[in-house]
Amino acid sequence: MKMIEAKNVKKYFPLKKSILSRNDRYLKALDGISLEIEKGVIHSLVGETGSGKTTFGRIVMALTPPTSGTVKVDGIDLFSLKKNEMKLIRKRIQIIFQDPYSSLNPKLKIRASITEPLKLNHVKFDEKMVTDVVESVGLKPASDYLDRFPGEMSGGQRQRAAIARAFAISPELIIADEPVSMVDVSIRADFLNLLRETNKRENLTVLLITHDLFVASYISDKISVLYLGKIVEEGSKEDIIERPLHPYTQALLDSIPILGMGEREVKIKGEIPNPIDLPSGCRFHPRCPFSEDKCRQIEPEYREIKRGHFVACHLY
Ligand code: SF4
Repeated sequence: MKMIEAKNVKKYFPLKKSILSRNDRYLKALDGISLEIEKGVIHSLVGETGSGKTTFGRIVMALTPPTSGTVKVDGIDLFSLKKNEMKLIRKRIQIIFQDPYSSLNPKLKIRASITEPLKLNHVKFDEKMVTDVVESVGLKPASDYLDRFPGEMSGGQRQRAAIARAFAISPELIIADEPVSMVDVSIRADFLNLLRETNKRENLTVLLITHDLFVASYISDKISVLYLGKIVEEGSKEDIIERPLHPYTQALLDSIPILGMGEREVKIKGEIPNPIDLPSGCRFHPRCPFSEDKCRQIEPEYREIKRGHFVACHLY
């Protein structure tokens, strides 16, 4: 059973016309993404800043419509829903942001932040349920935290509270957008374990959006690698981590920190190009060490190389 089915999703942002150009110009944040996520699976979408991964998360949350393409959540076409139907589906999806202040109102105590979505969605709750959810994310005893404002907590405690708020409504789908990038390295594993435990216990589906292939490899069942608005490789965690095919995935793997050495630079030349002026042919060719003439002229087809392992590269 599929929780997310995205077909050929494009998101183009129109740009102001310049006096030098008569044609309409667009920033192509997503340029034809098709992605299926099974229920109960942790699926990571990995890419550098500017790859379009956060835009995709916002579309799945129905925070912004795609320019074209369809997105279904549990078989329901998100962008054909009426307002009240949308409210019902939103209750089933929660988002965890990189910055907990995006989910927690600094003027509300933690208790109010957690109960607010329950009240809005007419979900019955009692003190035990609130205590349980707060303690389930490691804020123990709950009585020490429920009456604090976010500003009276550490960054790690705030992110735990934001996760408790997302879990309180028993969502079926969590979109976690860089959930650990602002959390101290020493407690990142705790957060990822928490997501994994909840995924197992509640059959929760997780779309994990991250720039960090190490984070994705820690808890994912499947991984899709996004580059300049297109998926360039997708497979099981083992396919991507142990048998990566695309040169971009290989470069991302090279950037994974080695214990005691800190983070190394991604071994690819240059910056991610501007999504307004996309390179011709394979959009990775200006940075690819294996680039040849064909790569500059012809866009590689996205093909299944082995059961469930897809790649877009002329080398295969
Ligand atoms: Fe590199 Fe060519 Fe493959 Fe693109 S198609 S990733 S440029 S080898």
